[in-house]
Amino acid sequence: METARGRVLSVASECVPLLKTGGLADVVGALPGALAAEGWEMRVLMPCYRPLKWRLEEMEEGFAEADLFGGPGRVMAGEVAGRKMLLLDAPHLYDREGGPYAGPDGDWGDNAQRFAALSWIGARIAREGLGDGWRPDVVHAHDWQAGFTPAYMDYWGSGGASSVLTVHNIAFQGWAPASLLSALRLPPQEFHPAALEYYGGLSSLKAGLVSADHITTVSPTYACELMRPEFGMGLQGVIAQRAGQVTGILNGVDTDIWSPEVEERPYNAASLKAKAENRAVLSGAFKLSVPGPLAILVSRLTYQKGIDLIPEVLPDFIAAGGGLAVLGTGDAPLEAAMRELEVRFPGRVGVRIGYDEGLSHLMFAGGDAVLVPSRFEPCGLTQMYGLRYGAVPVVALTGGLADTIINANPAAMAAGCATGLTFHPTEPPAFAEALRRLIHLHADPAAWETVQRNAMRHPVGWETSAAAYAALYRELMA
Ligand code: ADP
Repeated sequence: METARGRVLSVASECVPLLKTGGLADVVGALPGALAAEGWEMRVLMPCYRPLKWRLEEMEEGFAEADLFGGPGRVMAGEVAGRKMLLLDAPHLYDREGGPYAGPDGDWGDNAQRFAALSWIGARIAREGLGDGWRPDVVHAHDWQAGFTPAYMDYWGSGGASSVLTVHNIAFQGWAPASLLSALRLPPQEFHPAALEYYGGLSSLKAGLVSADHITTVSPTYACELMRPEFGMGLQGVIAQRAGQVTGILNGVDTDIWSPEVEERPYNAASLKAKAENRAVLSGAFKLSVPGPLAILVSRLTYQKGIDLIPEVLPDFIAAGGGLAVLGTGDAPLEAAMRELEVRFPGRVGVRIGYDEGLSHLMFAGGDAVLVPSRFEPCGLTQMYGLRYGAVPVVALTGGLADTIINANPAAMAAGCATGLTFHPTEPPAFAEALRRLIHLHADPAAWETVQRNAMRHPVGWETSAAAYAALYRELMA
């Protein structure tokens, strides 16, 4: 058997299919398989939360630590759904009723210790290896929960391994009071603005950003945006200082699950006939009768996602023949605003408040266009589903949206490569103009089908991302 090109330890707080609260888990869960195809061996270290405890029976102990921030801990190794997993079993930190980050009364009060412990063990695996002699060449830490990993590798030894920190969302920074410095096994002499200090306290994300050998984020445009105050949320200066070691690598999507060819009424780029049938079923489900383009919105209903702009731009879109099907949950005023639109435009606007993955598949299969008017978007997934399903993405030109959609401007149409419509800034006039362009494009069947087919042929799988991560690991190992 060919030996691995390299060994990577991924350190994260969630991983599909074990536990998921957001896109982070998808990325962490998809990378081992995608990298294996490139000849890399990746193991994933994550906490053993209560719902995962039963899996320990089938795992073997890697090593134990008598005092892991207030109690004993041990690393358990085994395979789960084809992934080499390392579960950190430390009952005093993770064996409790509630979510991974919060309980019934809000965020767990000991989150700093809980995720410092995860990071500590990640660094120890780099430094000393596992019981079976396995040692990583690269340690890949994800978000604030694993942010202290590169710092511990710096301060306590890395065994020669390199470190990468990926920022999935800068909004979460792992803040902790400075009084925890020693308890978290951080050297007091490093408590200054160029290292651990962050506005008088600690931030595990900042610690990772200053310590990691390399920083990545989930799209090239977000990587640039993070260096600006509008997007960096306080960490823009830290990231800008490390600009030479910052790379944006787009997430992929699972193309086996997100494929119009596996839906109930299958279609593909070569034959779009069944898309019309899906549209009819979708219209029935939302009680819609729309003469022009039927747009969809599948989203958290929050300010970040630009949902407050929809009521401002929708009347003109409806007047021009468009319609909208909404699926989402989120802030109460925005949920109410969506419901009002349904009442105001019967037969043209349909709204489902809730989370429904099955319905979302029907919406992409039946929708003509998907709206993504985000104010910021580290990567974004729904525009990629839109591409896969020929639901032409209409997106704000920010973050991963800017990196995945080719605007149907005259140049792109002439070159035959347009895949959607983009607008900037995320404000009503620009959004309304994009919707006018959607109406016109949809009214020209030949141009419309060209864009749809271009979209469906655009690669959105994990192959490209895995190759980019592999290239980065190779560079770090060299
Ligand atoms: P974010 O992680 O910021 O919410 P993304 O676009 O990266 O945004 O990912 C959101 C994911 O959640 C997508 O897979 C989207 O289809 C899904 N999603 C969001 N809201 C709903 C909903 N109400 N029902 C079903 N799926 C949803």
